[in-house]
Amino acid sequence: MDYAAIRRSLARWFQRNQRDLPWRRTRDPYAIWISEIMLQQTRVAAVIPYYDRFLKRFPNPEALATAAEAEVLALWSGLGYYSRARNLQKAARDMVAAGGFPRDYASIRALAGVGDYTAAAVSSIAFGLPHAAVDGNVRRVIMRLAGSATADVPAEATKLMDRRNPGRSNQALMELGALICLPSAPLCVECPAQASCEAFRQGTVASLPPPRLKPVAVRKERTLLIVRRGGRILLVPSTRVKGFWDLPEPFEKAILGATVGSFGHSITTSRYRFEVREALAPKVPVGSIWWDPKNSILNVSTASKKALECLQSS
Ligand code: SF4
Repeated sequence: MDYAAIRRSLARWFQRNQRDLPWRRTRDPYAIWISEIMLQQTRVAAVIPYYDRFLKRFPNPEALATAAEAEVLALWSGLGYYSRARNLQKAARDMVAAGGFPRDYASIRALAGVGDYTAAAVSSIAFGLPHAAVDGNVRRVIMRLAGSATADVPAEATKLMDRRNPGRSNQALMELGALICLPSAPLCVECPAQASCEAFRQGTVASLPPPRLKPVAVRKERTLLIVRRGGRILLVPSTRVKGFWDLPEPFEKAILGATVGSFGHSITTSRYRFEVREALAPKVPVGSIWWDPKNSILNVSTASKKALECLQSS
C-alpha cells in the first residue's frame, strides 16, 4: 500500500469535503467524548439534536456529574442503549474526582463505556495523540485499500495515520468510509485513494469486506395493558431499562378487555408485535404506580409511548 500517497490525497479531499458537524467545531475533549459515545450504534443525523440539547444542559463534567440520573436518561431518551448514558455520568463523576478530563490514552480508555475505538478517537482528535481509530467504516476502507479480507486492520490503520495530525487523519479515513467507500455501491470514481486502492485495481471491491452472518431477527408477540383509574394510568418499573417505566404486560388478577391497537417495535435483534389492550385490575402488581400523564413527567419506555399513541388514535 502506498501510505504516503493515500495520506496526501486523503488530507486534501477531507479539507474540501468534510461535513460540518457540531463536534468538529470544538477541541473540548468533553464535548468530543460525548459525541463519540452518542455516535456508537447511532446515525450522525439522529445524533445532532441530542448532542446539542445534551451539551446545552450539561456543558461540562461537573454539570453531568451532579445531575439527577432521571434527567440524564430523559435527555438520552430515544437514542437507545441507555447503559451509554449511565456510563457517561459515571465517567463524569470520576473526572470530577480526578480534577478534570484525562489527557492520555490509557486514562481515557479506563473511563466507563470507553473502548479502544473511542479512546483512540478522543485522544487523537482532542489531544493530537497518535492512536489510529478503527471503527466499522475504517475496517472496510482498509480491507479494500489492501485488497485483502485478512489485512491486519489496526496495523495498517496505524501505518496510514498522519502522525503530524492524527485527529484529522483518523477523521478523514472515517469520513471516506461514510461518504465514498460505502458498504454497497462505493463511489470509486470520486475516491481520492482510487489510484492506490488494491481492491479497485483487482476488481474485488464488491467482495470486500466479506459479508458477516447476520443474527436472525427473532419475532415475538407481546401484549401491553392500559389499566386506568380516573385520568391516571398504571405503570410498572421497566425490567429492561433501570429508571424507566412500562405499561404492564398481562399479570395475575388483570381482566383483559378490548384491543386498542397494535404496533411493531425492535429491541436489539428481536422484532416484537405488540398488542395494546384495555384492562381492569382489582389488584395491581407490587411496585406499580398510578401515573397522571398531564401532571407528572416520567421516563416512559419507547414501546409504552407507542402503545399510548395507539390509545390516543383509537
Ligand atoms: Fe473504496 Fe473504491 Fe476508494 Fe477503493 S477506490 S477505497 S473501494 S471507494
